[in-house]
Amino acid sequence: MGMVFVTGGSRGIGRAICTAFARTGRDVAFCYSRDEEGARETARLIGKAGAGALPLRLDVADEAAVQAAFDSLPGLEILVNNAGIAHFGQIQSTTSDIWRRIFAVNVDGAFFCTRAAIPKFLRRGGGSIVNISSVWGEAGASCEAAYSASKAALIGFTKAAAKELAPAGIRVNCVCCGMIETGMNARLTESEKAAFLADVPCGRAGTPEEVAAAAVFLAEHRYMTGEVLRVDGGLL
Ligand code: NAP
Repeated sequence: MGMVFVTGGSRGIGRAICTAFARTGRDVAFCYSRDEEGARETARLIGKAGAGALPLRLDVADEAAVQAAFDSLPGLEILVNNAGIAHFGQIQSTTSDIWRRIFAVNVDGAFFCTRAAIPKFLRRGGGSIVNISSVWGEAGASCEAAYSASKAALIGFTKAAAKELAPAGIRVNCVCCGMIETGMNARLTESEKAAFLADVPCGRAGTPEEVAAAAVFLAEHRYMTGEVLRVDGGLL
């Protein structure tokens, strides 16, 4: 088995994905932008699961830094584009800087990592990519236009890359998350959460581990590509 690279692994869904892949027996490299303490904890959990951990401080929006990081990765088998940021605000108060930063991290980051991973996969005879998108990329969320548009772009990128790369033995799939219990939703009050969950048939938020299970499933399935798999408790 080769190595897995997970972007945004210092907490939340990314940490659960790192740990889940470590349990499959693969060594896990992961990046984060700032959270050194969170990265140390993820590395500890990967080690506890019996795998090797390689934490990298790396802004996925930095094209040159992404390329340099991938150049040093041995035996890459699976890439998970998970790093993401959100912004809550009306369209008329969304500055162009905010819009561009959301796209730089959520879309450019996935593009840079995918482009850098392809030669590694080709050398190995194939590989697998899982992109972590959102149900808002399909349905749109009020006051999250930049975020929704970036996650829709990631779905389009998944489908195009799947068609282009399948002949080379590289599969590309996407997980569309509903509300998952992580720091990304920390700004919501209890009553805002309850109002959102009233529309979720399963009646609760998902866990990072439930998203991680879907990511491992898609990464390992040998006949699925271009798939958009929802982990949303039935919301959509
Ligand atoms: P989170 O708890 O906020 O964690 C985000 C992770 O991404 C952190 O490890 C963070 O590292 C990293 N990151 C942020 N900007 C980065 C950058 N420029 N370069 C490298 N790493 C960066 O978020 P989460 O809830 O786990 O979300 C993970 C993914 O799931 C995101 O793509 C998100 O859009 C998607 N998603 C989440 C939900 C949800 O309800 N939670 C729903 C739908 C989709 P630092 O800590 O170092 O900044």
